[in-house]
Amino acid sequence: MTKNKSIKRTDSPEGREYHTPSAGIFFKIKNLLYRQNSPYQKIEVFKNEYFGNVLLLDGLVQTTERDEFFYHEMLVHPALVAHPAPQDLLVVGGGDGGALKEVLRFPIKYVCLVEIDPQVIEVSKKYFPWLLPCLKDQRTELVIADGRKFIEETDKRFDIILVDSSDPVGPSASLHQKRFYKKLKNCLNRNGIVVAQVGSPFFHLESIKQIRTSLKELFKIVSFYISPVPTYPGGSWCFVFLSDGIHPLHTRRDPPSGLNYFNLDIHRSAFSLPNFLKEKLE
Ligand code: SAM
Repeated sequence: MTKNKSIKRTDSPEGREYHTPSAGIFFKIKNLLYRQNSPYQKIEVFKNEYFGNVLLLDGLVQTTERDEFFYHEMLVHPALVAHPAPQDLLVVGGGDGGALKEVLRFPIKYVCLVEIDPQVIEVSKKYFPWLLPCLKDQRTELVIADGRKFIEETDKRFDIILVDSSDPVGPSASLHQKRFYKKLKNCLNRNGIVVAQVGSPFFHLESIKQIRTSLKELFKIVSFYISPVPTYPGGSWCFVFLSDGIHPLHTRRDPPSGLNYFNLDIHRSAFSLPNFLKEKLE
């Protein structure tokens, strides 16, 4: 659930994020559009010739206009094609609105977006054009709150909960703990599914193994899957699908049309893991 644990973060003037002390990704900044510290984190948006607008939080790439579809389609659609009748959804984090945009492609009844930092919402409304129409959609409720507190206090129940958190440092730290997942489970309807991002299969193998060990104590089905995300460390990203009965490979419907990456063949293949990850998880 981390991009970059203990190493130097982005030298943002050059748009440089280190993934190890000696390697990483850089973006040439065409225009710096926004740079401010909110009470929660440092927020930066710049324009890159190739990737378009790029959002960084505390120096780590969160999303880019050009490649956002990989991560957001793969966070959202696997659960939505596997659930028998998804109606009420929760997105924890996700203030850039990419996950919300994908959820709203389905004929669901209600989606609640719980984001801790209103400044991320305001910045994303301005620089990521999909967010504003999604917030105006009558099915959306925006709640500005700490996801952990929200989960502890809400009496709402959800069919699918998507954890679109940032790294396990700063405000997101609590969203990566076992006790948060225990509470999430209490907020699920029957047949409920949780999906969360868990990090790079290449750089964060050890932490993915630990996540599996603790989530196995809470959920009957703990299935990992992988997607390319060109601007994330290692270029591919790992997600976990959690349920007490719904099997991810038993799909119930086609995905909506107009997606860039996800289809049912991708869905099936995403759950086939490479040997190094399989062996670690066994
Ligand atoms: N896909 C992304 C990634 O890992 O790069 C995550 C994107 S999204 C921008 C993450 C959001 O989670 C941020 O906007 C951040 O403010 C929000 N967030 C962090 N901690 C939170 C918390 N405790 N409750 C709710 N939202 C939180």
